Amino acid sequence: MSSAIDEIDPVCGRQIDRHEAPAPIRHGDFAYYFDRQQCAEKFRREPERYATVLRDEAWGRLDRKV
Ligand SMILES: [Zn+2]
Repeated sequence: MSSAIDEIDPVCGRQIDRHEAPAPIRHGDFAYYFDRQQCAEKFRREPERYATVLRDEAWGRLDRKV
């Protein structure tokens, strides 16, 4: 339905609408979006862990690396 670009929350794996997400967190060359504050907090504590998961499993779907 929505034409908005979906982002994937690297912590819980949910797809989220960029416009509805809280402010993204920048890590390395990327900005990460989260569906809720708790996920952002987790990411902040262990950014390496979640950033790696996103790049390996989900980032390919987001058309930036294709
Ligand atoms: Zn989440």
